[in-house]
Amino acid sequence: MDDYQLLADLHKPGRRQGPGGDAETERALDLAGIDRSAPLKIADIGCGTGASTLLLARLLNARITAVDFLQDFLDVLEQQAEKLGVADRVSTLACSMDALPFADEALDVIWSEGAIYNIGFEKGVAEWKRFLKPGGLLVASEITWLTDTRPAELQEYWEREYPEIDLASAKIRVLEKHGYAPVGYFVLPERCWLDEYYRPMQARFDDFLERHGHSTEARAIVAAEQREISLYETCKAHVSYGVYIARKPG
Ligand code: SAH
Repeated sequence: MDDYQLLADLHKPGRRQGPGGDAETERALDLAGIDRSAPLKIADIGCGTGASTLLLARLLNARITAVDFLQDFLDVLEQQAEKLGVADRVSTLACSMDALPFADEALDVIWSEGAIYNIGFEKGVAEWKRFLKPGGLLVASEITWLTDTRPAELQEYWEREYPEIDLASAKIRVLEKHGYAPVGYFVLPERCWLDEYYRPMQARFDDFLERHGHSTEARAIVAAEQREISLYETCKAHVSYGVYIARKPG
């Protein structure tokens, strides 16, 4: 198994594959002013096993295309959609987010939680814009500095992991530069990191290591996750995910 398969194996049993929460998904929906009864077309990009997709499917009268490049995650999402009785509203698409097959102006809403960093926030917002109808909305969460200065250790870690990390003011500027009108922004609270993401992941470490015979690669993945977790715990006043909502002018 290569490292990516190992990571997928660690994260597949999780409800979420990144920081987030159902209350925050719903908060973004309300802040965006999305009409719950309108027959919308939505893409959830980098959906993982579908925590946000399935909630949106339950709350809205929408057709949602759930996109992820890992078929394993999409298989879990499909089973859950059946179980929850929303399979008729959700379709899955195994595809890379830098090669999306949507037609121009096909979507009312592009949703993406904890995933746009995979192609970079600026590239994502620029490339995905053409898929939105005029007046359509982008809702994307992105790792964000909360303070203008940060502990050196945190700064160095995230600049190595994701050099595009920046302040909310800079992220909003990127949206404006690419022709969006910012609508709203809020910060994911600590619970979205610890209770919804890190603690459940930590509870899976032992089984994960067992499954992979405590291989060097599996141990390295656990060590890297632990390092990220302890850095978050020490420095959480300085970093979180921001949820950005912006409109393509109509
Ligand atoms: N939105 C989910 C998952 C976030 S984790 C949640 O909030 O729980 C990021 C997701 O992006 C993973 O499921 C990963 O498989 C997917 N991903 C990473 N790179 C991708 C790419 N290039 N194209 C499509 N999906 C990608």
